[in-house]
Parts: sequence; structure tokens; C-alpha cells
Amino acid sequence: MSVQNIAVIGAGTMGNGIAQVCAVSGFNVTLLDISDAALERGVATLRKNLERQVSKQTLSAEQAEQAVARISTSTDYTRLADVQLVIEAATENFELKVRVLQQIAAQVSDSCLIATNTSSLSVTELAANVSHPERFIGLHFFNPVPMMALLEVIRGLQTSDATHAAALNLAERLGKTAITAGNRPGFVVNRILVPMINEAILVLDEGLASAEDIDAGMRLGCNQPIGPLALADLIGLDTLLAILQAFYEGFNDSKYRPAPLLKEMVAAGYLGRKSGRGFHAYA
Ligand code: NAD
Repeated sequence: MSVQNIAVIGAGTMGNGIAQVCAVSGFNVTLLDISDAALERGVATLRKNLERQVSKQTLSAEQAEQAVARISTSTDYTRLADVQLVIEAATENFELKVRVLQQIAAQVSDSCLIATNTSSLSVTELAANVSHPERFIGLHFFNPVPMMALLEVIRGLQTSDATHAAALNLAERLGKTAITAGNRPGFVVNRILVPMINEAILVLDEGLASAEDIDAGMRLGCNQPIGPLALADLIGLDTLLAILQAFYEGFNDSKYRPAPLLKEMVAAGYLGRKSGRGFHAYA
């Protein structure tokens, strides 16, 4: 089955980026959220991002205009009747996503593929809530979606080979490089990245080195574009703690225990860039 009409559920940070990339790649996109205000914010953001691409000459003004024209917005799930793929990018909460998936499943055609952009929930468990779990898959985009080349494709236990093949084909049409991962907490990238950041916090807490030196060490010694503590500040320390807790509980393995200093920073409200203070200070 060929995909031409895509619905994106959730017009937030990820949803508006996914809608933008799909529309630029020639798909018709229905962007759906719970309120007109959320949709207006999402569309304003993607328009601004498209304008930036035009000013950097990575996109022509005409291409940007055509992309915007391919996007329609709605708060009505009945608009999903004629799409071949739904990408769910709503708030990261299991009960909320189950409700959203049931609403989607009630409207789409029998052959429609459904994907989730979840970062931390089980694709297998979410798949159990739709009528055709074999046509359900994880499409884990990275933030900011238009800039990041990777698409992690997550197979739930029920995902069929045909659904997987369709996801790989979509990645190619979106100009993304896909890697395929099984359904375990953190998939591949966060599973490796987040414990590395946690280790950097443990090293800081042990007084082995300063935050500046830890970050300089990983930038200059490992060619990382940003040091792990600066990256923690960017992600948000509360988000990081939630991911580590999900790993700790999901694997029942003490190697994922969150660094005590991380817990204390979150308790103090030092959440990184968004609060002006994390492992580094921000004006
Ligand atoms: P966000 O809070 O920016 O946006 C979520 C959007 O979902 C909001 O606009 C909200 O109004 C909407 N929403 C809530 N309930 C809804 C419903 N019933 N129907 C339709 N829309 C609804 O969140 P985000 O950062 O864009 O995250 C979305 C998903 O993407 C999450 O699953 C998250 O784990 C995942 N993700 C986030 C990142 C990131 O860096 N932010 C990266 C990869 C994956």
C-alpha cells in the first residue's frame, strides 16, 4: 500500500516538526490536536522553521509555500478516514496515548498503518490497544525533527514485516536514515546515551573533575559536539531523571540507578537550561 496522506496527532515540539518534514517531502498532512490554540502554535512554529530554511537557502520559497499548502489542521478524529498512516506524537503519558490510539483505531481504514513517536513507552504494550497490532510500529524521530537525520524504527512483538518495510520506505521518502531496534526501554540511542550522561554526573559528584573539564574531555577526546553535562542541561534534568527511572524499573537492573546528584538537582528545581541553572549556569 502506498502512503500519500499522513495524519500527525499532536502539534507540539515533535508533532509540528514531523508534519513539516512530511509536507516538505510531498505528503498531504492532517495535523490534529485537542485545541485550535495548540494547532495555531504548531503551525506558527513550523512556518517559522520553514522561513529559516528559506533564508539559509536549503529550501526555496516556493517549496516552503507548497509544504504549508499541503498541511491542514483539525481537532476532529473523523478526519482520519482517508489517511494511510497516522503518526501519534501526543503527550508522553501511557493512559493518554491509549485513549488517543483507541480514537484513531475507531476512525481509520483497516489497512491504515499506525505509528507512535514515544521515547519511553513500550511499543508492544501500546500496539495491544489497536485493532491491527501487526500494522503498528514505533517511529522515533529526534528533536529538532527537520534537522536530525536519524529515524529509529521500533518493532513491537506484533509488528509485521510488511509494516516494517513500509516504515523503512517512509524514512527514505522523508530523507532520513533509519535504524531498526527492538522494543526495550530507550531503544538504541537513548539506551546508550542516557547511562553515559548519568556516568558523567557520577564522575562530577565524586569530585574527579569539574563540569567544565568533564564536558571538554568528552568534546575534545571523543569528538562529541556537546559535553554530556551541557547535553543534560539541554534535555532537562527532570526528563533525564524520568528516563533513568524508566530504565531502572524496566530492566530491574541497578546499573541504571539515577545518580544521587541528579535527583538532588531536580529536587532543588535546577532543571538545566529551562530553569536557568543546571550543571552549568544560563543567563
Ligand atoms: P509536547 O508537549 O510538545 O506536545 C504534545 C502535544 O500533544 C500537545 O500539543 C498536546 O496538546 C497534544 N495532545 C495532548 N493530548 C492530545 C489528544 N488527546 N489528541 C491530540 N493531541 C493531544 O510533547 P513533545 O515533546 O512533542 O512529545 C510528543 C511525543 O514525542 C512524546 O511521546 C515524546 O516522548 C516523543 N518525543 C519527544 C522528543 C523531544 O525531544 N521532545 C523526542 C523524541 C520523541
